[in-house]
Amino acid sequence: MTHADGMLALNAFNPQSGSTTAPATRALIERRRNTFGDGVPLFYRDPVHFVSASGVWLRDQDGLEYLDAYNNVPSVGHCHPHVVEAVSRQVATLNTHTRYLSDVVTSYAERLIDTFPRELSKVLFTSSGTESVDLAMRLARLYTGGSGFIVTRFAYHGHSTAVAEITPAFGPGVPIGINVQLVDAPDGYRQDEPVGVKFAQDVATAIADMERRGIKFAGLIVDTVFSSDGLFVDPPGFLMEAVATVKRAGGVFVADEVQPGFGRTGEGMWGFERHGILPDIVVMGKPMGNGMPIAAVVTTADIMQAFTDRSGYFNTFGGNTVCCAAASAVLDVIESEGLISNAKKTGAYLKRGLQQLKARHQSVGDIRAIGLYAAVEFVRPGSKHGDTGMALDVVNELRQRRVLISTCGPDGNILKIRPPLQFSSDHCDILIAAIDDVLRIR
Ligand code: PMP
Repeated sequence: MTHADGMLALNAFNPQSGSTTAPATRALIERRRNTFGDGVPLFYRDPVHFVSASGVWLRDQDGLEYLDAYNNVPSVGHCHPHVVEAVSRQVATLNTHTRYLSDVVTSYAERLIDTFPRELSKVLFTSSGTESVDLAMRLARLYTGGSGFIVTRFAYHGHSTAVAEITPAFGPGVPIGINVQLVDAPDGYRQDEPVGVKFAQDVATAIADMERRGIKFAGLIVDTVFSSDGLFVDPPGFLMEAVATVKRAGGVFVADEVQPGFGRTGEGMWGFERHGILPDIVVMGKPMGNGMPIAAVVTTADIMQAFTDRSGYFNTFGGNTVCCAAASAVLDVIESEGLISNAKKTGAYLKRGLQQLKARHQSVGDIRAIGLYAAVEFVRPGSKHGDTGMALDVVNELRQRRVLISTCGPDGNILKIRPPLQFSSDHCDILIAAIDDVLRIR
């Protein structure tokens, strides 16, 4: 399976070589291949089959428990009782779309808007991050009259026709749109110059190139923690100059908060806040409903007006009553369990532990982390050449030790650690000891 070497090939099961799986697991894999084909990859050389979960633990079909240090969708913990109760109550009461009045839906919209600076005062609900990015592209194009977007070189923004054109992480098999320009991610590990200055210069050059090709600039879209590019978070504020450049050129800045949003950075609800910038459009999804399919676009009154002057908006499942009840319960849990401050405190503990690992193992080239999002970059000792094989071996060895993580970055040489926000220092100890153990025997 190559998927033309795109992001979905990272840590993917290979049916030709995955011989360690038990017969029952192999049979299920075959049934899955018969129906899905090979385009929907499974994780791991030895795929896992989960049947239940709670908090930061998942259980497989043999009743064995796995520590979840990877999944950011069940962000307030798998099957959180408060979310389960809210969904169960709402699904047994009423589940409908947004063309009838609903206190549940409107109250959630107000609550969500209250987490943003006052300029960002309008929201549209969707059912996935992709749909939100797609809608953000429509808003940006209508507002600016342009069509061109700038994204980073290994960005992932989603899978619809329009969004795949701004998702270079799919690899060379999925063409980038002709009105899309790529820039380097702000990689402070490999770039010598200050990342914010270089990023702003690259954005300015991309805008100029685009306009020379007769394409009017619409906007810059970035994941504000650059997850698929390899997680680039420091120094806070490095996006400021690029955003100013975008606005001077008449474009909009779209913050993709699908990964950092809802408290993961430990420094507030949204990743853009650490950069001291005001996005024109924000998209969010994944953790919003703790697994229920709800996502959104938040924007200014002016941008919304430019959209509604031309088009109405209706989305059958987007913002349905059950999903809004789930999303509201997620906000309750983030507040009542202090999950943003836990992300900060436990994230700092995790980062310290990973830095100690780096001091012990030459293969670890860099540690980057913000709140409960961490990257461990493997390189060939004495160089900055990514060691993809090492990252894959570590991820698969951890799976055998029943700890879940995965990889990211264009070369897949970076461990991607992104647990539910209930993660504690004890969980960090289990994770770090497991990585240490694997690196020691290698
Ligand atoms: N943006 C980012 C930054 C993402 O990571 C993802 C999903 N990996 C998306 C958008 C698309 O979200 P979805 O899978 O819900 O369509």
